Amino acid sequence: MAKPDYYDVTDCETNDKGAPKFCKKSEPGEGTERSCAYDGARVVLMPITDVIHLVHGPIACAGNSWDNRGARSSDSQLYRRGFTTEMLENDVIFGGEKKLYKAILDLAERYKDQARAIFVYATCVTAMTGDDVEAVCLAASEKVAIPIIPVNTPGFIGDKNIGNRLAGEILFKYVIGTTEPPVLGEYPINLIGEYNIAGDLWGMLPLFDRLGIQVLSCFSGDAKFEELRYAHRAKLNIIICSKSLTNLAKKMQKNYGMPYLEESFYGMTDTAKALRDIARELDNIVNGLEKRVMQDRVEKLLAEEEAKCRASIAPYRTRLEGKTAVLFTGGVKTWSMVNALRELGVEILAAGTQNSTLEDFYRMKGLMHKDAKIIEDTSTAGLLAVMAEKLPDLIVAGGKTKFLALKTKTPFLDINHGRSHPYAGYEGMVTFAKQLDMTVNNPIWPALNAPAPWEKTEEQLAADLASTAGHAEAFLGEDISASRVKVSSKCATVNPQKNSPALGATMAYLGIDNMLGLLHGAQGCSTFIRLQLSRHYKESIALNATAMSEDSAIFGGWENLKKGIGRVIEKFHPQVVGVMTSGLTETMGDDVHSAIVHFRQENPEVAHIPIIHASTPDY
Ligand code: SF4
Repeated sequence: MAKPDYYDVTDCETNDKGAPKFCKKSEPGEGTERSCAYDGARVVLMPITDVIHLVHGPIACAGNSWDNRGARSSDSQLYRRGFTTEMLENDVIFGGEKKLYKAILDLAERYKDQARAIFVYATCVTAMTGDDVEAVCLAASEKVAIPIIPVNTPGFIGDKNIGNRLAGEILFKYVIGTTEPPVLGEYPINLIGEYNIAGDLWGMLPLFDRLGIQVLSCFSGDAKFEELRYAHRAKLNIIICSKSLTNLAKKMQKNYGMPYLEESFYGMTDTAKALRDIARELDNIVNGLEKRVMQDRVEKLLAEEEAKCRASIAPYRTRLEGKTAVLFTGGVKTWSMVNALRELGVEILAAGTQNSTLEDFYRMKGLMHKDAKIIEDTSTAGLLAVMAEKLPDLIVAGGKTKFLALKTKTPFLDINHGRSHPYAGYEGMVTFAKQLDMTVNNPIWPALNAPAPWEKTEEQLAADLASTAGHAEAFLGEDISASRVKVSSKCATVNPQKNSPALGATMAYLGIDNMLGLLHGAQGCSTFIRLQLSRHYKESIALNATAMSEDSAIFGGWENLKKGIGRVIEKFHPQVVGVMTSGLTETMGDDVHSAIVHFRQENPEVAHIPIIHASTPDY
């Protein structure tokens, strides 16, 4: 199994307040923010559109994570199908290798006209039962004509970031350099860590086209498998999401001598900087030092595009100028959104991040006004405290913060993978300005914060009605065809929207006053359950996990469970603790009942708090 040692050492060394704890492991008893390594690998590989993504595991891994990111495709929809071997109890007992082998052959035959490769994902349970995914893929490769690629990144080996980087290793080992491009332009580049969320990539490609830059391969937004295979022929790598695939760019630099740049295409300032940097680098590589062929093209394009963009955003800017915001996001958006918001006249009162590299964090800090606050406590309570202190006009963040913002009646704009609109490039900047305006100036906010209708006079009611005139037309008239997903008309092979029993148990626990759930498993399962249920209930969902790691999966999870129960009681003061198990801890054979008895003996002072236990493996 691949070893999770792909963090840059510098990313792990900081005690700076509010800095992302990139290498910090989740603690038992905490609500995990980052999902598991399996999910991290899926984030990187799933946007490859014309391949089968087959999840070898019980239903939770495929079912709870199905289609939870907005990566768009301009062609094949095969990547959105949920393929899983759906391991059941007997498969866990007798082993799932034969089932996996048959599933690969079956799917390769059924989708032979569409599928260009099959990625096979190991999960916690199959890693624990010892299914040799690599050997099965090798054996199946002899029977089918397309590449069968093992993705051996079970959830318990680490968090999502580890999974991202391991997926980069897999691409390097099995995909890159395995064929030659049909046509090679003068200025070929690769984009790395661009996942075409809501169609972001499509805002960048026209700019490259006009400049005569060939995007040879994009890892992996709207990617076709074949295109990724000849990425080694590019002249330059551009990293878009700096935290996810830096290791891949470094490896390509070492092996193919291909330099790389880290850039962002959000906002006018950063888009211009990115294009200038790329042009300078390409001129150096292709035309020799001091030559300015590409740089001249870029300056011409920038003059046109910036003028056009400024004119388009002007009406929105007028309505946004002077508004205040709290920014909470990850990756390059941490700093490039500071610039983009500033370009629209929005002042940032506070900003924070969990999912960024240290470099991203310090870049954000450097751009912010000296009086702006860095959010140090990124928990729900911490964010609520910042909102109460700063009273911003707007929260710009990811989906997990959405209901927190809405419950406090604060306008909210999603800029992470849950959004439906592309924000990259100049067109993206105009869309961003428009969405921001529609969010912050939506008449719902004054209505929500105003007296109830029965407390108003006739004149006030008439004035309310008049002020909202035309808004329905504006919303309905909006063109969202670019971000609409094509839905496949064929039947799905399996129904991955079945959820895990642990999700069902969480729902039951949520119905009991002052009861807090604790999932005994690796961190991916609880993150997925929280995501699913918070979308369903439109609330932040309290669920903690014992954050099982590779070590505890091998040596037993009692200590994690006992620590988790202790922490949950100490930190959140529930009246009842509801423990539930996962496929991983059941397969390991963790005796949860005995662990609870031990906890009771060691902690008699909390004997009055009931701890109930449900066995909820997903097989
Ligand atoms: S942590 Fe949960 S979702 Fe992730 S691989 Fe393990 S069982 Fe699957």
